[in-house]
Amino acid sequence: MNGSNARRKAGGLEFRIERDLLCTADSRGYFTSLNAAWERCLGWSRDELMARPFIEFVHPDDVASTIAEASRVAEHDYELASFENRYRTKDGGWRWLRWSARSDGETWFAVAFDVSEEREAVERLRRELTDESLVAYSQPITAGRRQRIVQQELLARLRANGTLIQPDDFIPRAERHGMAGVVDRRMVREAIAQADAGHHVEVNISASTLEDDDLSGELAQSVSSIGAGARRIVFEITETAAVEQLDAACDFAERMGRMGCGFALDDFGTGYGSLTYLRSLPVQLLKIDTSFVRGLAGSRDDQRMVRAIVAMARELDLRTVAEGVEDRATLRLVRRYGVDYAQGFLIGRPQPLAELNNVLGS
Ligand code: C2E
Ligand code: CA
Ligand code: CA
Repeated sequence: MNGSNARRKAGGLEFRIERDLLCTADSRGYFTSLNAAWERCLGWSRDELMARPFIEFVHPDDVASTIAEASRVAEHDYELASFENRYRTKDGGWRWLRWSARSDGETWFAVAFDVSEEREAVERLRRELTDESLVAYSQPITAGRRQRIVQQELLARLRANGTLIQPDDFIPRAERHGMAGVVDRRMVREAIAQADAGHHVEVNISASTLEDDDLSGELAQSVSSIGAGARRIVFEITETAAVEQLDAACDFAERMGRMGCGFALDDFGTGYGSLTYLRSLPVQLLKIDTSFVRGLAGSRDDQRMVRAIVAMARELDLRTVAEGVEDRATLRLVRRYGVDYAQGFLIGRPQPLAELNNVLGS
């Protein structure tokens, strides 16, 4: 997981004091104290910022929404105001600030984060993320003693400005800002084409797609177009997403299951202490997270964990995949423990789909 994700999980309130903009203001709308970060961010001195009502620094287009949010909260003691607006910099530019503010009726206490770069990144992604710029990569998954390739996982890459962007650098942002559907539509289309050509394929689905009835209906409709070929498709959903939206995950799995598709829990083992949710979820495959597999040969804890997952999966009639198999010692161990499938750099790195098709002989 990347750093920005970890911060988001912490609730967005992890202070980095040297960069966060802390302030108090009075009920007349003047700043009464400001930390040094303000000057670094906007270029104005503290005295300059305190000399005028703060609303005068706000972008004209954001004044009305700022006043509306401030008055809404002012009526409720200590309710938190959360909004974004643009602040004028001394050199004539604008910075986007994300505010958390509350008032006790007399004094405003607020922290603002400079989110200009994040907003620019979102706008850039909105422009770049199109059907044409998404590239499907594929990583082989093997089974049995002879490690025959029986399956492949589709992994998205984004081609922009001559570079290839890795999913960790665009998918979390796409998910946060309502763009995951573009990725999922494109990758499911690829999965359908693969399945229709006779290849078994796993495809990742974002949490937001589970909840989006229209989009999952649309995906189901396209899957149904290949009839019995749909049996070759497995949808992967992270354990975390499935548990957080258990009803939506069940509906999705049942809907796709009716057409013959399988359902896998991705990054299994990282999500939840309790496994009761497994009773209600129509799932066939557990993908044991890389973090338990990568250092398997050297870690007794990981060995115990993988053996426990396999034992439980057998009880529940589920199959298992070890993700992140990077060396022979690990492959030997997962085979000895009875893990059904292996995936990892040892077996094959993700590569553009077309090249894998040659290997598979299509
Ligand atoms: P994931 O679904 O868990 O995919 C497996 C990731 O592990 C891939 O990273 C793969 O390249 C990497 N991997 C495979 N074998 C090894 C290994 O032996 N060692 C190590 N260290 N890593 C290995 P990738 O392609 O960068 O994808 C990262 C994540 O981005 C994926 O994790 C998945 O959560 C998300 N993602 C990728 N493609 C899609 C997509 O089409 N849709 C959605 N919703 N998410 C996607
Ligand atoms: Ca996956
Ligand atoms: Ca995974």
